[in-house]
Amino acid sequence: MNVVSPIKEQADEAEVKLRPQMLSDFTGQKDTCENLQVFINAAKKREEPLDHTLLYGPPGLGKTTISHIIANEMGVGFRATSGPILTRAADLAAILTNLQENEVLFIDEIHRLNSTVEEVLYPAMEDFKLDLIIGEGPAARTVRIDLPKFTLVGATTRLGLLTNPLRDRFGIPLKLDFYSYEELEKMIIRGAGIMNAEISKDGAAEIARRARGTPRIALRLLRRIRDFAEADNAAIDKKLADSALARLDVDKIGLDGQDRKYLRYIASHYDGGPVGIETIAAGLSEERDTLEETIEPYLLQQGFIQRTPRGRMLTQSAFAHLGLKMPENLTKENPDLF
Ligand code: ADP
Repeated sequence: MNVVSPIKEQADEAEVKLRPQMLSDFTGQKDTCENLQVFINAAKKREEPLDHTLLYGPPGLGKTTISHIIANEMGVGFRATSGPILTRAADLAAILTNLQENEVLFIDEIHRLNSTVEEVLYPAMEDFKLDLIIGEGPAARTVRIDLPKFTLVGATTRLGLLTNPLRDRFGIPLKLDFYSYEELEKMIIRGAGIMNAEISKDGAAEIARRARGTPRIALRLLRRIRDFAEADNAAIDKKLADSALARLDVDKIGLDGQDRKYLRYIASHYDGGPVGIETIAAGLSEERDTLEETIEPYLLQQGFIQRTPRGRMLTQSAFAHLGLKMPENLTKENPDLF
């Protein structure tokens, strides 16, 4: 796995250790956290489970972390599964009937649930009921059974792929955004403390600036940089962080080889675009989903690319970052873009 990928690795124990447990340890996403605290307090006061909550935003921004925090703050149990794992309605039925009262059921990548599983979820979310079909053929009948009350926490990187009926059943939608450098710096210093790694403030700031606004990347870079620091028997300062990041192929603003390949492809093969996402995916031998979920969000946020009806286009800043001159026809064609 690429060090700078925001994608989660399976059973990443180091990540679990660094996970904040309560809202008070969670850095950033201020408005989201304040609202969530109000909803949690209200639900606790009413002795009810928290309303179903949908967390959405790019990978590595804290969706899984917040789902654990919800269970901890509510003082209830936590079960986790994910859209691609839940392939059969019976699997979901088994999970639902085994829930304890008020528990949190976390479904990661909820946009990948198939429609038969999703249909089981509707009455479960709305009325805490499960419709079971007993028997086959003409003798088949439906039996409705009661489920314990629970909170469904869904996480998705692709809100647009959620069906409307599913989206409408979440009472609390929460959007996660990229973090500021200061917030990431704080997380890096906290993480280094937990890992017993010595780090200076400017060392943490350097990593923060190059972590693409994403805690998962910041903490993963920190772990790799710590390896370099240990090899040199040194503390992590700006100089060490800078040379380690260069060795990890992370550039001054945090772009890695894959990001630069994406930008260069549009610059050199399509003169900066517009070019369709399918063409880019084929040209780079990448899945379209990978581009849309992990590479593009940060490039869009940084203003390096634009999504237009005719496809992706590079901006002046992207050409400048690549050290290339912007083609004249592009500047003329889109005067308002630049
Ligand atoms: P997602 O589910 O959105 O992909 P995770 O919740 O798994 O992301 O977070 C990835 C890593 O980043 C975890 O190690 C988590 O502890 C850390 N992390 C995420 N958000 C924060 C935050 N706000 N403060 C501190 N650590 C965070």
